[in-house]
Amino acid sequence: MDDLTLMIPGPVSVNEDVLEALSRPIEADYGEAWVAFYDDLRADLQTVFQTRNDIYLVTGPGSAALEMGLSSIAAAGETVVVVNNGFFGLRLCRVAEAYEMNVVQVKAPSVERVGAEQVGSVLDEHPEAVAVVVVHHDTTTGVQNDIAGIAQLAHERGALTMVDAVSSLGGIDLPVDEWGVDICVTVANKCLGAAPGVSPISISPRAWEVVDSKETRGWFLNLRTWRYYLENFGHWHPLPATSAINTAYAFRVAIQSILEEGLPQVLERHQNVGTRIRSGLRDLGFEMLLPEAESSPVMTTVLGLPGMDIAHYSGWLLDERKLKISVGLGEYAGKAFRVGHMGRAAHLGAAERFLQATEAYLKAQ
Ligand SMILES: *Cc1c(COP(=O)(O)O)cnc(C)c1O
Repeated sequence: MDDLTLMIPGPVSVNEDVLEALSRPIEADYGEAWVAFYDDLRADLQTVFQTRNDIYLVTGPGSAALEMGLSSIAAAGETVVVVNNGFFGLRLCRVAEAYEMNVVQVKAPSVERVGAEQVGSVLDEHPEAVAVVVVHHDTTTGVQNDIAGIAQLAHERGALTMVDAVSSLGGIDLPVDEWGVDICVTVANKCLGAAPGVSPISISPRAWEVVDSKETRGWFLNLRTWRYYLENFGHWHPLPATSAINTAYAFRVAIQSILEEGLPQVLERHQNVGTRIRSGLRDLGFEMLLPEAESSPVMTTVLGLPGMDIAHYSGWLLDERKLKISVGLGEYAGKAFRVGHMGRAAHLGAAERFLQATEAYLKAQ
């Protein structure tokens, strides 16, 4: 019998070598060995982020790194423009509101990709905005916003661009420097295929200028604290507080696998697995939520067949085939299901296993 495989858009199943790294004896997160490890990991992450910007490894979920980035670039009362076309865009609004920023939303339906045009008309009315905050790939639908266009426009208007790339980086191309993304956040346990608990964040020189130009709140979730420790204690204790040590080591194992395979090859593999899942599902009579040209390489939102009991189907997959998929959220509850192809599920073997199981389920009904 196959192992349980998570085919949800996070958390994801990971490879054996990542699990092995987690079970090693705990080492100290200071001293020569740790400093060398941390520097190497950050350098490797620069390759995966396609950037020369500074990178920090935040201890915590993606939400911690997102809150850290956002709260470090805008003070209370300052205006931030937040793209809200899904659950995670709305979440970013909530974070900004918690810090009493003036949140101006670019609202769009959840199946609609947002680009520079919509953001531009909001910036016309709010030239005082210090940043545009946008989700790259919304994990409730699979919609991808036009980061290249939005970042270029924000730059022209003198605003920073902060991107939530939690469910895309490592699975969907995101050249941070080429596109001019000032703050980029992702996590270890989605497309990068490591364990949850650490979240890298990149910061451009332009973003540092903004950070340094104002007084913002917070200590642990403040970029300035992390830079202070790296600059002043980087030779011995580069993080401000205890790291998730084994999680960080396991993350490096996953990152090294990506670099060995090659980032372009890894991105292409996600693309191929997505294509296979969609075509296999279409052969079984399913329709996808998004048109093929806008499909996501890392997850697929699938409309249920007429009269289909999606909860029964997903329960059957788990009980009979040890495959865990995700049901539709919000307006798609009971109407759609979501299949993640991230981490260990981003391989053709997992795609075939899922398609065969789905075909067997439909036959048995
Ligand atoms: C998963 C996810 C998050 C939240 O990440 P946590 O690690 O749970 O905090 C944020 N944004 C997007 C787009 C996600 O997919």
